[in-house]
Amino acid sequence: MSKNYIVGFPRVGEKRELKKALESFWAKNSSFNEVKKVASELKKHHWLYQKNAGIEYISSNDFSLYDNMLDMIVTLGATAKRFKNLENEELYFAMARGDKNAVALEMTKWFNTNYHYIVPELSLEDEYKLDASKIIDEYNEAKALGIKTKINIIGPLTFLGLSKRVDAKDTYALLDKILPIYKELLKELSKLDAKITLQIDEPIFVKDSELRVLKFIKNTYDTLADVSENIKIVVCTYFEHSTEATEILVDTPIWAIGLDFLYGDENIKSLPLIGKSGKKLIAGVVDGRNIWKNDISKTISLLDSISKKVDKKNIIVSSSCSLLHAPFTLKYEKNLDSDIKNWLSFAVEKLDEISLISKLFLDELNEDDKEKIELNKKANKSRKTSALIHDKEVQNRVENITKLQRDGKYEDRIKLQKEILSYNDLATTTIGSFPQTPEVRKARRDFKSGDISKLEYEKQMKNYIDECIKFQEKCGIEVLVHGEPERNDMVEYFGEQLKGYGFTQNGWVQSYGSRCVKPPFIYGDISRPKPMTVDWMIYAASKSDKIMKGMLTGPVTILNWSFIRDDKPKDEVSKQIAVSLSDEIDDLQNAGIKIIQVDEAAFKEGYPLRDAKIEVYEKWAVRDFKISVSKAKKETQIHTHMCYSEFNDIIDTIENMDADVISIETARSGNELLKIFKQTGYKQEVGPGVYDIHSPRVPTVEEIVKQIEMLLEVLPKKQLWINPDCGLKTRKWEEVKPSLENMVKAVKIVREKI
Ligand code: GLN
Ligand code: ZN
Repeated sequence: MSKNYIVGFPRVGEKRELKKALESFWAKNSSFNEVKKVASELKKHHWLYQKNAGIEYISSNDFSLYDNMLDMIVTLGATAKRFKNLENEELYFAMARGDKNAVALEMTKWFNTNYHYIVPELSLEDEYKLDASKIIDEYNEAKALGIKTKINIIGPLTFLGLSKRVDAKDTYALLDKILPIYKELLKELSKLDAKITLQIDEPIFVKDSELRVLKFIKNTYDTLADVSENIKIVVCTYFEHSTEATEILVDTPIWAIGLDFLYGDENIKSLPLIGKSGKKLIAGVVDGRNIWKNDISKTISLLDSISKKVDKKNIIVSSSCSLLHAPFTLKYEKNLDSDIKNWLSFAVEKLDEISLISKLFLDELNEDDKEKIELNKKANKSRKTSALIHDKEVQNRVENITKLQRDGKYEDRIKLQKEILSYNDLATTTIGSFPQTPEVRKARRDFKSGDISKLEYEKQMKNYIDECIKFQEKCGIEVLVHGEPERNDMVEYFGEQLKGYGFTQNGWVQSYGSRCVKPPFIYGDISRPKPMTVDWMIYAASKSDKIMKGMLTGPVTILNWSFIRDDKPKDEVSKQIAVSLSDEIDDLQNAGIKIIQVDEAAFKEGYPLRDAKIEVYEKWAVRDFKISVSKAKKETQIHTHMCYSEFNDIIDTIENMDADVISIETARSGNELLKIFKQTGYKQEVGPGVYDIHSPRVPTVEEIVKQIEMLLEVLPKKQLWINPDCGLKTRKWEEVKPSLENMVKAVKIVREKI
């Protein structure tokens, strides 16, 4: 029988059933039993999908009501102190979402994906205690359905590596306390059946910034493998190579190693060692985090080259990572162009691919399968040559552009800009969006569904823009924005207008808890058929005598928040986007827009997991930001916005982007982090957010005065802008109005003082 394997499966449900069940429970419209019922149905459904596709290694405990790291917190009894009086689902959801007595645990990005996990808070005082019930129940649930699952857990080194200590820095110092609980867990699991396969996820091994973890691997896995002969341990990594860890793992008594051969091509180097060790290799060869149909011929040649070093009978064909990061199924996509749809493959379709590939690899194809292979070849061939994708004109233009950056040195530009724009020191502005009210959302929905005409839609949007402008004028803000009501999302809005971009109806991917996002996807060469924001900006600018700031999303962010092509290098796609944006900027300035902000919210999250790859990333990311603003005249002021505050390691790169003004998020992290701007002699203007928009709280005037005074200790007033720390679209007007009024008052007070 063919050997195949799935690292993990999506859990929200093909119609986001879990989301609906959870949100109804949280809103107190249904009981927790209702949630459990939906969860059981989903698990069953998901197991059967995998079984029917012919998958041999199907997981249990990949399901979660919120997050797998959070589940592991419960399993280990690693509950932060402030939740100690809670239990069961109350405890679980309080840690995830907070309750009236305790703020939630932090949440942060899972490696370089857009999934967010809950960050455990640990301390030396903790007394860990095993609770294996969820894992055991889920295993038995599957078994009752006739499915013997492998069990997924997060490994001790990754758990610690992703945790934070409340009492000190070093989380690995807690290994001695955590490891015994893992041992107990394995002991419990060993009682479940005569043979148990246990997948222990250790993605922390792919980060070279965490290489200090290497010294713990040998002892940890010697210890765990020693617990019971009934347990076959698979140590699984993904998203990058883990060659350093593999070198150590081959010398421990684990059963198998799971590696990602798509995003971690260097894993190939470990093959001789794995081959010699006689261990099984879970070969991640089908992309678990993208949407493209596998090129089966290509995958078979990859497997053939792997099998030169590792005995074929030890190779198990697998997804490169959990399919959690891919949308669920193509089944509900009714609007896609049939050619394009034929190039795609979501989680459910990937199951068939993995099954088919493993059969082909082992020469077990039947007639039906052979036909499927032919269809796969055909689809891939059509994608390679389709005119939908390949646009010679775009390629030529992008290849041959020579203007790579704007004219003039920063010092000369800013002088000119200050003369023309004549804004004050400590000039006030906002980051772009204003509250997306229910009415705004409804208008957009109605327009999309054809319930209101384009004219009616635009009328409503313009009314809203009028309101935003009126408020800003009254409030006394100096550089205005139009408020972005016409944008559902800062990437989708541009994707919808660029050629080469596709959209799904149901391609949801879990972002955190019950939240899902539906990223657009880039399938072809990118160009801009016509201006995207110019009419809106002309309208807004005509409504006020003050400066109206134009608003675009930058190339790196557009790229990072989309599914991307796998048939073209990332940097080429990014350059195509940049060239399209450069035309937009030119059109905006020719229409009289004097300040244009190019948001790079996701610039930092695009950083590679491996240090060795950072230089290459920074090079094209900076190149393409500069290309996108290359046509800006000296007197056109370019702003950028970034959604974070830690600039220490990338300050030179940011400076090289050569924006005239950068607004950043500092409100939550204090001014410590801002010192880097001073230390490095950063010369461009900076707008460190003076209050936190992520909370509904209205900051007081005094608070903001203090914040500005603190900023002035670090940066001179002529270099400072005053603004909130991000866009206001998730906030309500009741919060936004007083907050911005207080911000303007605070600036007045500070100006009088100095
Ligand atoms: N201009 C965008 C807004 O205000 C920026 C948002 C972001 O960077 N996340 O919504
Ligand atoms: Zn932001």
